[in-house]
Order: sequence, then C-alpha cells, then structure tokens
Amino acid sequence: MFAIVKNRPEKGLWAEDRLNAQKTLGPNDVRIKVSHAGVCGTDFHIYKWDDWAQGRVKVPTVLGHEFVGNIVEMGSAVSGYTVGERVSAECHITCGVCRFCRTGQGHLCVDTQIIGVDRDGAFTNEVVMPASNLWKIHPDIPDAHAAIFDPLGNAMHTVSAFNLAGKTVMITGAGAIGLMAVAMSKARGAAKVIVLEPQEAKRRMAEALGADMTLDPTQSGANDKIKAFTNAAMPDVLLEMSGNEKAIQQGMTLLAMGGEVAMLGIPPKAITLDVASTIIFKGLTVKGIIGRKMFETWYQVDTFVRTNPDAVDKIITHVLPAERFAEAFTLMEEGKAGKVVLKF
Ligand SMILES: [Zn+2]
Ligand SMILES: [Zn+2]
Repeated sequence: MFAIVKNRPEKGLWAEDRLNAQKTLGPNDVRIKVSHAGVCGTDFHIYKWDDWAQGRVKVPTVLGHEFVGNIVEMGSAVSGYTVGERVSAECHITCGVCRFCRTGQGHLCVDTQIIGVDRDGAFTNEVVMPASNLWKIHPDIPDAHAAIFDPLGNAMHTVSAFNLAGKTVMITGAGAIGLMAVAMSKARGAAKVIVLEPQEAKRRMAEALGADMTLDPTQSGANDKIKAFTNAAMPDVLLEMSGNEKAIQQGMTLLAMGGEVAMLGIPPKAITLDVASTIIFKGLTVKGIIGRKMFETWYQVDTFVRTNPDAVDKIITHVLPAERFAEAFTLMEEGKAGKVVLKF
C-alpha cells in the first residue's frame, strides 16, 4: 500500500510502500478503502515538526485523519453497515467508558486517540476504524466534500459555541477552517462577518464566502475601521482560528464589552495574554473548542454541506493525486491553498 508517513523526526513527509493496515480485523472494526483525504493544519504542524508535533507524534506514523472511502471488510460483530458503503469517520477514537464518553461528551474523552496523530491514519489505501466511529455519506455529497467533514465539523463546532443570530462576528485567521466558519456564521444568521487575515489571497476567498469586511491585521488602523463599520459597537463574538499570539491578543482587545470568544486555533507554544484587561474587566466569555460533538456536529455538517455545496467548492482549492502530496504542503506553506484534498 502507498502511504504518506512521518518516518523521521525532522521537517518533511515521505512516501512508503507498506503492508496492509491491520491484517485481521477486530470484531467491531471495519476496513475502509480510502478514496479521498483532506490535508489539515494538524498535518502541516506534523510536516513542519514544530514543538507541538514533537511532543505528541511518534515516528513512524502514517498521517491523515480526514477521509472518505468505501467499506471493504467488516468485523464479525459489526451490523448496520454493508460492504461497499461509502463512509467517513470521526478521527477521535474514544475509550467509551470514561465519565465524558458515558455522558455524550466523547470529544472530551480522557483517553482519546486521533488517527494520523497517535496511531496510523488515513493517508494510505486502507484504514481500519471502529464501526462506532463511522459516518454514512449521503449519496448527494461528492467525495471531495465528504472527505472534509472533519474540519467542517471543527468549524461547525466553533460557530455553534454561541448564538450568532443578529451578531457581528469577527474571525481571526482565514485558513481552511476560518473560511468554512465565514460561510457557516452567515448560515447561522450572523448580521456581519469581519475577517482579520494577513494574506491577501485568503482575504479574497473570505469575501467570496460572504465576509462583509476583511482587514490585514499587520496594517495599522484595524480598530478605527472596525469601530466605523460597527457604529462603535465593536464585534460581539470572536472566532479565533489562527492560533497566533498577536491575533488572539488583538481579537480579544477589539471585542465589545461582554463579548464571547470561541478558540479553535492552536498556538504552537505558550503565549502571553493580559487576562485582566482583555478578559476580566471586559466580562468576556471564553470557550475552548476541541474536535466535534459526536455526533451532533456531524448531523449539522451533513445539512450544511447539502445546502451549501457552492461554499464547500470555494473552500476546496486543490484536489491532487496522493502521490503529489509534497505539492500540497508547499501550497499550504506558501499560503496559496484553501483546503487541499488528496485522491487515493
Ligand atoms: Zn483535521
Ligand atoms: Zn472516554
């Protein structure tokens, strides 16, 4: 099998010819032939081999956690699925027995494993998943869209953190998930969406997806422009998608009093924040967003993808054969891509 592997503790990823994933299936497992897989910011962290990746990922690991494919084999205890069926899967493999798993909060599981991070993933021809992680793909949904339910779910989980109806929403960072959040914020009734993003091409994409105002945060005057745009009210909700220290500081500073913050972007290391002036004395509510709600978020994404296929098309800028994976990472490094999907 062709596989894209982190097999050395340094920057880069390497193609390998590997034996089939897990020869014998457990009774509750399903073997899936991968057709398409999304390249994620998480993969990019591992490609770059930053502090977070070094602390979390062991080499060798097959990357990839966002995918769609067809079931080729099922364990003896699996029911409710058929061979040939098209599925995606939740990439967090949870323990099923902890307090959080048992109270419908699997995304907070204390013993979770992410495929492509903590164990071999989906950037290969076949992946084995517990059947309880599977998600059936509606026939109307094209493969490229089905491959990115996972990050669409991150975006949906973030925009669902607070009620956006009639609010001014500010999004810091217009990477793929930030772009998804633009379209989803609009779909959830946000009155105005403001995007702060240093890269020109991504600002243009955000506008194409419905952003009402885009700004380059590295230029001065953001505060005055947003003040004028919001009639001095300032934004109500911040969706932090960049993980960038300055963006987090600036985003919280620009929020209205009593504003709400949903944080998804992962800072690569510890950051500094003036908690007193940016959170306490402004009365902000700050919520961290991890993964997706299993499976509430998946139902929301299913509806969004089927009712907004044009938006998803705009977010996916490249579909490449898997063998050209190096190009995908170069495009991401150069800031030239929205979402890149690999075809296996
Ligand atoms: Zn991802
Ligand atoms: Zn658990």
